[in-house]
Amino acid sequence: MPPPSAEANIQVVVRCRPRNDREIKDNSPPVLAFNSARAKELQIRLADRTGDRNTTKTYTFDRVFSPEASQQDVYADVVAPMLEEVLAGYNCTVFAYGQTGTGKTYTMEGSLQEVDGQLTEHAGMIPRALFNLFELLDMASGESTVKVSCIELYNEELRDLLAPGDDLPKIRLYEQKQVVNLQGVQEVYVKSPADVHRVLREANEKRQIAATKLNQNSSRSHCVCTVSVVTRDTSPEGIDLVRTGKLNLVDLAGSENIGRSGAQDKRAREAGMINQSLLTLGRVINALVEKSCHIPYRESKLTRLLQDSLGGRTKTCIIATVSPARCNLEESQSTIDYVHRAK
Ligand code: ADP
Ligand code: MG
Repeated sequence: MPPPSAEANIQVVVRCRPRNDREIKDNSPPVLAFNSARAKELQIRLADRTGDRNTTKTYTFDRVFSPEASQQDVYADVVAPMLEEVLAGYNCTVFAYGQTGTGKTYTMEGSLQEVDGQLTEHAGMIPRALFNLFELLDMASGESTVKVSCIELYNEELRDLLAPGDDLPKIRLYEQKQVVNLQGVQEVYVKSPADVHRVLREANEKRQIAATKLNQNSSRSHCVCTVSVVTRDTSPEGIDLVRTGKLNLVDLAGSENIGRSGAQDKRAREAGMINQSLLTLGRVINALVEKSCHIPYRESKLTRLLQDSLGGRTKTCIIATVSPARCNLEESQSTIDYVHRAK
């Protein structure tokens, strides 16, 4: 099968959260405007910076979600189409990228609550993907197995969020014949939505423990949740078909950790304030979009970890999360510029 074009392989969407209580109390007006809850265009009102009331800048993305868009809207447009790819045996990745406090964790994880065995409207992409996956597998013929792993990446160190006990063992990443391996990572088999909840809650608790025990600033860590699906079926001709696909759902470190002026920011780099993985991810995605012959996967743990899911016959979506309020305009602008380059 010929690979589809690189353009179709990397999607960029923007999601804007509602103004929060603080922004409302401070009278920080909305500066982002939308045509509808699910549009393709995003207008930024720069009026208050330039003094010209009518200055707006319009950006086009694969999708733009206004504060009125629901978790289900984002799921249906972004993640549901990827599940089909995963079941067909391909690797897909969804990233949430944005300033701390703009809804990365809300979008990826959201509420893990269940009412009568059903997700609530606030459930994010991870629980929705897993629930939907079981629905699809229930309808399919043949056998299947589903495994989940959750890894935290902090300061270029990988830790297993599903290891038993209170330990937070470091994971070693190594390559064998160009295949990336993770030594000793727990992959938990899940058979039902109830298993999924148990696993996700466990990972969540571990993330809290990691933050406390290791004195981490949680805005600087990445969380990679990987769902691996193997399906076995028999073709009408009686041939065994085994398909292995993966869906990576990544809650990235706050984009403010990339440093104001990117790679040039020497002082921030020396102070360890620049996040190597976040910076390299941007370079890898730009190199993929530009079809460059060198993709710098090896320059960070995150991109090494996801190497087999970025580029080639894979699909990637970046969800850029932003605040609508004027007080965050500068960060929103830099988030939008960062992801717009991936288009
Ligand atoms: P981040 O992970 O980017 O730091 P969070 O996901 O923790 O941000 O979101 C910050 C706060 O905003 C949380 O209280 C969250 O529930 C709320 N929030 C974020 N996005 C939305 C949204 N689209 N709708 C409603 N509340 C949201
Ligand atoms: Mg978060």
